[in-house]
Amino acid sequence: MLDHPAPASNELDSWDRDHFFHPSTHMGQHARGETPNRIITGAEGVYIVDREGRRSLDAFGGLYCVNVGYGRKKITDAIAEQASKLAYYHAYAGHGSEPSIRLARMVIERAPAGMSRVFFGLSGSDANETNIKLVWYINNVLGRPQKKKIISRWRGYHGSGVMTGSLTGLAGFHNLFDLPRAPILHTEAPYYFRREDRSMSEEQFSQHCADKLEEMILTEGPDTIAAFIGEPVLGTGGIVPPPAGYWPKIQAVLKKHDILLIADEVVTGFGRLGSMFGSDHYGIEPDLITIAKGLTSAYAPLSGVIVSEKVWRVLEQGSDEFGPIGHGWTYSSHPLCTAAGIANLELVDELDLVANARETGAYFNAALKDALSGHRHVGEVRGEGLLAAVELVRDRDDRRFFETSEKIGPRIAAALLERGVIARAMPQGDILGFAPPLCLTREEADIVVDATRGAVEAVSAAIG
Ligand code: PLP
Repeated sequence: MLDHPAPASNELDSWDRDHFFHPSTHMGQHARGETPNRIITGAEGVYIVDREGRRSLDAFGGLYCVNVGYGRKKITDAIAEQASKLAYYHAYAGHGSEPSIRLARMVIERAPAGMSRVFFGLSGSDANETNIKLVWYINNVLGRPQKKKIISRWRGYHGSGVMTGSLTGLAGFHNLFDLPRAPILHTEAPYYFRREDRSMSEEQFSQHCADKLEEMILTEGPDTIAAFIGEPVLGTGGIVPPPAGYWPKIQAVLKKHDILLIADEVVTGFGRLGSMFGSDHYGIEPDLITIAKGLTSAYAPLSGVIVSEKVWRVLEQGSDEFGPIGHGWTYSSHPLCTAAGIANLELVDELDLVANARETGAYFNAALKDALSGHRHVGEVRGEGLLAAVELVRDRDDRRFFETSEKIGPRIAAALLERGVIARAMPQGDILGFAPPLCLTREEADIVVDATRGAVEAVSAAIG
């Protein structure tokens, strides 16, 4: 396995520098060859291997998406079989293919109570784009065209399209792109570790976040606010589980002002937290749910919007009054992707991966805390299920943060890579993120923890 010799020439390197426009990459440095590139040639289980034959334990599961692990033949066979039978047909005007219908059924069987239908897309971004359009459509059908604003959170991540990039609450995804756009607003992030008032308990901080939300709703006018969107656990914004009492308090405010709740479960859907959905985990009752990543474990691009029965009834009313809905993508519910989705969800069940995320996740989080909590440059170790983060600080006693220019997060991620483990330097703050495949074993968790300890100690010693 994983035996992939390097090509004889390094043509690939120059083509990569000259022709390939990489996402989220320093374009100049990459083009000039000032930063290393890494060409991945194979993967199995929790390991990836590159062209030079370097093997790394991928403790971020790609981009927290390869939930069942790499190299699952069951899924690649399902894709190949579907390709030879029916590689494509569209789903417009009532058409469909068997795997798409079957997968829709499987998703609803696993979804939180009250969910009714699934609209399939290709990426988390396009699924959230669908969410925004559905929310606007619903309020037009219900005769309240002024109720259109959507409240997201600072540090939320919901994609990088024009509207979904606006929902995202991270400056790096706005700067120079003229984002965020109206009518998107951002409220306080539920980030207890970075709260301003240190005297607040978690419950008090959650109440403060709910109060801030309500203040914004009242200032803007409740009849102008259509929806609130949030990830059950803040992901790309720092991997931050919600403080105690957060979701019940937020939901009470939303209910009071008749505001729809979109749970963005692109990361948390299908087991990441040790529950099938983050909504079940935290008692969230969403009107719409965004899914992607874990739906196919990234063996094929597929996303979805799960709509509740309450939302579906308005959509039906809309088409009864105004005709077919004018929304869809050529590749909505692409049969190759939905075939991958079926095999993937079957594997999640067969391998009992939700339970493993819960059990190995608890072990991993405890071991990470044990290894790092007392360290002078570690401000917080936090996580839930198989999601975890280590936040680095200049001084843990007076909670001073590093300057962005010191690049401590990226330096620790690089030191970790030298030790054979991939974690992600999260984009805002010096935060090392972990989201390994849900099939991670305790032995593999130990490897990640040991390497992280070594990397933090090495960079910490260099900082002095
Ligand atoms: N929503 C969440 C919570 C995400 O984490 C992501 C991607 O990381 C997205 C949406 C966007 O998904 P995509 O990159 O597939 O467009």
